[in-house]
Amino acid sequence: MMASPTVTIGILGAGQLGRMLALAGLPLGVRCRFLDAKPNCPASPVGEVIHEGFKIGPHLDRFADGIAAGGGVITYEFENVPVEAAEHLTEHATVRPSPRSLEVAQDRLRERELFASLRIDAPRHAAVHTLDELEVAVGDFPLPAILKTCRMGYDGKGQARIKSPGDAAGAWETIGGHHSVEGNGGAILDEMIPFERELSVVAVRGIDGEVRCYPPVENMHRDGILVRSIAPAPGVGEVMLAALEKAAAAVAEELDHVGVLAVEFFETKAKEGRPARLLANEFAPRVHNTGHWTIEGAATSQFENHLRAVLAMPLGSTEMMAGAHAAMVNIIGGWPDREALLRIPGLRVHDYEKSARPGRKLGHVTIVEASEGAMREKLGAVEAMVNKG
Ligand code: ATP
Ligand code: MG
Repeated sequence: MMASPTVTIGILGAGQLGRMLALAGLPLGVRCRFLDAKPNCPASPVGEVIHEGFKIGPHLDRFADGIAAGGGVITYEFENVPVEAAEHLTEHATVRPSPRSLEVAQDRLRERELFASLRIDAPRHAAVHTLDELEVAVGDFPLPAILKTCRMGYDGKGQARIKSPGDAAGAWETIGGHHSVEGNGGAILDEMIPFERELSVVAVRGIDGEVRCYPPVENMHRDGILVRSIAPAPGVGEVMLAALEKAAAAVAEELDHVGVLAVEFFETKAKEGRPARLLANEFAPRVHNTGHWTIEGAATSQFENHLRAVLAMPLGSTEMMAGAHAAMVNIIGGWPDREALLRIPGLRVHDYEKSARPGRKLGHVTIVEASEGAMREKLGAVEAMVNKG
């Protein structure tokens, strides 16, 4: 019997998301080639990495070489890839999702404008391009607020809190102000939401427009960095579930997105007869940290479904394993005693092989249990060990 032909896809970015995409690709006969700016990336052990960066040049041709001819496509795992590079690559191969998804997701203002155009509620915001504009804006804005750069923010970077108008200049400085914000998309002043909790929905949209959503996830952040996700998010009733899925599907459809995307929400507390509110914060046009639990906890992982979508294959089921409750904890800044972690029965460890640095995501662990109680018990054991630094 002849071996089936291997398909190679090109992935822009070679971080842990790329690594997990490649791991999901192997059983499907999909190989990955990566483009990144640095050598020794988390994806280096699982595929060839061309580490000459995202500027337009002959190395992009090498990256794309043979991909289209072999039935592959180009996709991305890093959302701050220059849109020009993605567009340039469309001359060599199909790029999915289309560069438009990147373009909107890279700019917080455009992201919020997209939400508004789809009637998806979001925190109140004001666009500011200079310190002067910020000084004016804070005079007429509910404080406290968060100032966020429109471009290049991640893991809470490029953000500063403003409690009173006097904080404006300092906050502008903190986010890079004159140097990196002015002339580079500006910033948004964002109403601080006293949320009850954070939720996200990871969805996949296929080539035929079908959208499938994973169960909503409850997320906890510390210092702007995701520390933990629980799936399914407890206490999400039918009405809220429908609202979450509708929002994710609307974003995917509006962008004609093919592949995985994730939308992050704040849920506010119900009070004085008013129901809880959902406010969309941002979306990511790619596989997402709040979907890592799907590797063990769902019928098809977000990584496999992303590959299926971009390769125009039928989508896999996004359902959880029957009756399962999953928790994912990020390992941030440093690893706890590895043996102690591995002794927790059923716990799965994912090491991205990154060097330790404060605030850096080095790996994650996943727990999947048949009851919420059992899941929470193990989660307690994990949380007593990790991220203590
Ligand atoms: P990431 O890429 O990791 O999702 P990010 O740097 O793009 O993060 P956001 O998701 O906007 O930035 O913010 C990070 C976290 O900061 C949020 O998950 C939330 O905990 C907090 N945060 C952001 N905006 C607000 C807001 N308007 N009100 C309250 N908290 C907020
Ligand atoms: Mg976020």
